[in-house]
Amino acid sequence: MSEKFDVIVVGAGPAGSACALTCAQSGLKVLLIERGEYPGSKNVMGGVLYRKQMEELIPEFWKEAPLERPVIEQRFWMMDKESVVSFGYKGLEWAEENNYNNFTVLRAQFDQWFASKAVQAGALLINETVVLECIVENGKVVGVRTDRPDGDIYADVVVLADGVNSLLGKQLGFHKEFRPDEVALTVMEVINLPKEKINDRFNLSDNQGCTIEIFGDSTKGNLGTAFLYTNKDSLNIGVGTTLSSMIKAKLKPYDLLDYLKNHPMVKPLIEGGESAEYLAHLIPEGGYRSVPKVAGNGVVLIGDAAQLVNAIHREGSNMAMSSGKMAAETIIEAKHRNDFSESSLNLYREKLYDSFIMKDLEKYKDAAHTFEKYPQYFNEYVPMMNKAMSKFFTVDGTPKRDKQKEIMKSITKERGVINVAKDMYRAWKAVK
Ligand code: FAD
Repeated sequence: MSEKFDVIVVGAGPAGSACALTCAQSGLKVLLIERGEYPGSKNVMGGVLYRKQMEELIPEFWKEAPLERPVIEQRFWMMDKESVVSFGYKGLEWAEENNYNNFTVLRAQFDQWFASKAVQAGALLINETVVLECIVENGKVVGVRTDRPDGDIYADVVVLADGVNSLLGKQLGFHKEFRPDEVALTVMEVINLPKEKINDRFNLSDNQGCTIEIFGDSTKGNLGTAFLYTNKDSLNIGVGTTLSSMIKAKLKPYDLLDYLKNHPMVKPLIEGGESAEYLAHLIPEGGYRSVPKVAGNGVVLIGDAAQLVNAIHREGSNMAMSSGKMAAETIIEAKHRNDFSESSLNLYREKLYDSFIMKDLEKYKDAAHTFEKYPQYFNEYVPMMNKAMSKFFTVDGTPKRDKQKEIMKSITKERGVINVAKDMYRAWKAVK
């Protein structure tokens, strides 16, 4: 393939397809390269897709996209061995088309559909093609080398949307190998279950979905979370911790998933289901301080390749799409100026830092490091919360004021008053 493109996008995940779609819509000649058999065939996500950022790319996408359920309830569980403290929000307004907030999706179907929208807009998609490296001439990225025969392809700009490992970003020296505390290893399973059972167990109607984020015993007290999301007639269940926690606590990812599936609080919700798929993937969780250089001469990094994930709010796909759109808008402007230098493409960096993406990552810049360094939040406070709630709700004739005093006393006895004050202040500082 010797023809030259305006833009080559490497990777047809949410970031790559968003970028390819926006560039193609403005008339640029776009090549989208995907290593999988089809877009989404290798991609993994817990499954929550956000309306806002998707709608900015394809208005009213829910009328044709392969979605599972609009989410109307978000639950948070602080789980101990045989109990759970839960809170959350359920709102019927989220079941209304005007107010859809987010949806559950299965990535293999969704990514395929999303990439097809880029193709409809004029992008050329080639699957089963691995980009081996960027071609660099005189300090500028001018194209990519693929594993096809005659595999060199040229373009004014190459967009790296190749996901969390971004070997291509590494090749260009934009980042080093990520440290074990900068990435989480997550394993998940899709479990088929009849929709009537899902509706009964989660108290839902057909077109209503529920998400549960689970902390504490789900990761055996380590930094990380588990999740359980409802699809139409299947459930997505998964669990992950930072690689460093996994190594330190000698956890085996699949053992952790088995432990979760057999937990007395979880088992009744998935019982009788048939395992349809097992998946494992890394999530970039280094946050603000791990975001690498995102623009160079003839090249930009978007989505997971640029570490754009807000782990606290499990937002990644939306950041991928928004960064893809911002990169595309920058490339379109650069095309008008016919200037694809680093300083021209740095407009993308400015847009990114001015957006919710970097503002949110900056807000939580210390969170992951704090919670990893001080594991008591997961392995001590979660059990303490459960004990406290059990005591509080047990009617045993003790006056409520005495009960409150007892609870406070047992918490401060376990950690010490000063330590509790320090822990609270530290947690507040990490998420304020
Ligand atoms: P990816 O989706 O990883 O896409 C990268 C693409 O590039 C892939 O298609 C890959 O095959 C292709 N590729 C890679 N290298 C090459 C190459 N050399 N040549 C050609 N093609 C290549 N986010 C949410 O918003 N909500 C959630 O509920 C959520 N849950 C998650 C649960 C799990 C278990 C995981 C792992 C992630 C979750 N995320 C979630 C994060 C979200 O999945 C990512 O942030 C998002 O997929 C990033 O999109 P991307 O396009 O940047 O990368």
